[in-house]
Amino acid sequence: MPFFLSPRMAKYIFVTGGVVSSVGKGIAVASMGTLLRSRRIKVSAQKNDPYLNVDPGTLSPYQHGEVFVTQDGAETDLDLGHYERFIGIDLTAASSVTSGQVYSSIIDQERRGDFLGGTIQVVPHVTNEIKRRIRLVAEVSGADVVIVEIGGTVGDIEGQPFLEAIRQMRKDEGKDNLLYVHVTFLPHIAATDELKTKPTQHSVKELRRIGIQPDVILCRSDWEISREIKDKISLFCDVDKEAIIPLVTSETIYEVPLLLEDAGLADLIVSRLGLEAGASDLDDWREMVTRLKFPREPIRIGLVGKYVELRDAYYSVREALGHAALFYNREVQIDWIDSGELARGRYDRLKKVQGVIVPGGFGYRGIEGMVEAATYARVHKIPYLGICLGMQVMVIEFARHVFNSPDPNSTEFDPSTLYPVIDLLPDQRVIVDKGGTMRRGNYPCQLLPGSHAGRAYEESLIYERHRHRYEFNNQFRTRLQEGGLVYSGTSPDGLIVEMCEISDHPWMVGCQFHPEFRSRLNWPHPLFRGFIGAAKDVLLDESQAPLPLSQSA
Ligand code: GLN
Repeated sequence: MPFFLSPRMAKYIFVTGGVVSSVGKGIAVASMGTLLRSRRIKVSAQKNDPYLNVDPGTLSPYQHGEVFVTQDGAETDLDLGHYERFIGIDLTAASSVTSGQVYSSIIDQERRGDFLGGTIQVVPHVTNEIKRRIRLVAEVSGADVVIVEIGGTVGDIEGQPFLEAIRQMRKDEGKDNLLYVHVTFLPHIAATDELKTKPTQHSVKELRRIGIQPDVILCRSDWEISREIKDKISLFCDVDKEAIIPLVTSETIYEVPLLLEDAGLADLIVSRLGLEAGASDLDDWREMVTRLKFPREPIRIGLVGKYVELRDAYYSVREALGHAALFYNREVQIDWIDSGELARGRYDRLKKVQGVIVPGGFGYRGIEGMVEAATYARVHKIPYLGICLGMQVMVIEFARHVFNSPDPNSTEFDPSTLYPVIDLLPDQRVIVDKGGTMRRGNYPCQLLPGSHAGRAYEESLIYERHRHRYEFNNQFRTRLQEGGLVYSGTSPDGLIVEMCEISDHPWMVGCQFHPEFRSRLNWPHPLFRGFIGAAKDVLLDESQAPLPLSQSA
C-alpha cells in the first residue's frame, strides 16, 4: 500500500527537460493543462527553478525575460504566464519555487533551532522541503492534477535535489498517481537529412541514473518525426511506442495543445493516471487557432521600451496585444522601438504606427525617450496605452505640457524635481505592503463611468495586478485635472489614482497596474481591446512630419 502524504488525492505529472533548454517545456506543460482542463479535470501547475535567487523579481530582464506577477503578488517566472493563459486559471505564489526559497526557509528553521541540533542535509531536509512545496499547490488549488515543471535540463548540478524529490514522490504518492514526462530535442543533420536520437538516449540514461524512468517522452523537433525514429527512441529508452510523442515546431504556440491532443497525449495521461474525465472539448480552441493562422489585415503598434532587443522582457504585453488584435481579426505587427533612439530625436518610426504602448520598467535609462513617445501620441492623437511606468511617463509628459516646464518628473528619476508628479507615497496607500517595499498583486480599482476605461471594462469595480513602488502624487491632482487629465480609475476610497486619461484625445489611457497578465486568447483584456479598437481606426499618413518637442509642449 502506498503511503499517501498528500492532503487530498491529487495526482502529479512531473516534467523534466533533456538535451538542451528552450525547447518549449513551459508551453508543453501549459498545453497538457489545456488538454486536461478541456476534459473538465481540475488542473494546477508549478514551476521549480533550480537557481539560487529567491525569486526572479530582482533578476535582470537580460537574464530572465519578463517577471510574471500572480494575483497574490508573487514575482515569478514567465512560464507561469503560459500556464495561466493556456489553462485559464489564476495561480498563486505556491506555483513558483526556487532553490533560493527552499534553502532560505531551511536555513531560517535551522537558525531558530527547529532541527534540535540535527545535521541538515540535502536528503532528506532539502528534498522534504521541495516535496512540501509541491504538495502545497495541490492543497491551495484543490486541483485533481498538478503539473510540476522542473526548470533547466537533466544533469544540471542545481537541479539534482529537485529530481531526487520527485523520484521519492513515486513511493510517497504511489506509482499510479504520478507520471514522468521528459521533454527532449531531436537535432537535424542537414548533410544526411536525418534526425538524431542519441542526445535523447543519453538524456534518458541520465534520468535513469537518478532513478527516474520516464513514462512519456515529448520529442521537440523542427522536422517531421518518422515512425522509425519513434520506434528507435521507444526501444532505446524503454518507453512505450504510444508514449513517444512528437512535438514538431508549429506556426503558433497556441497550436501545441492541438498537436498533443492529436498525438494522443491527453488520452494516455487520463488512462495512466486513472482520471475521471469528460469528453474533450477543444472546439473553441481549434476555432481560435484556425483564425490565428489565417492571414489577417495587419495593425501596427509601436512598443517603446528600453529592453526591446529582448522580446521576452515584454512577453505578456506581446501576447495581450495579439489576443486583442485577433478579437478584431487583425494581426498585430509590433515595431520594437528603443526609447534611447527617440530621446535622440528620431521619431520617424512613430510615424509608421497606429498606436503606441509604453510598458512597465524601472530606472531612469530610456525615460526621456518614452516621454517623447507620449508627447508624440498626445499631439498627433495616436492611441496610447501606458502600463505602470507607461502611465507614470504619461503623467510626467502631461505635467511638463501643463506647467510648460521640462522639470516635472518622478522622484525615482529626479529626487529634487520641483514637480514630483510621481512620488513614493506610502501614506496614500490603503493597505500596507506585506514585507516588500513594492505594491504587488491584486488591488481594487473603481472606474469612472463614461471614461475610456469605464467603457472598456463595462464594469465599475475591477481587480488588477500591481508591481511598483511609486504612485501618482495627489498634490498635483487638481492642477492636472484643470489641464485636462481625467482620473478614470481610483482606489475605492478615491485616495490613489490607478488610471488616468487625456480628455481631448481619442484614446490615451494609463494604468498603474499590469493588465497584460490577465489577458487570454479567448478573453482579450478590456484595456488592450479598447486600445487596439482605437488604433485600428488610425489611418497612417507617413508624409506627416513629426513635431519637434519644442513646438509640441
Ligand atoms: N518604476 C516604477 C515604479 O516602481 C514603475 C514600475 C513598473 O512599471 N512596474 O513605480
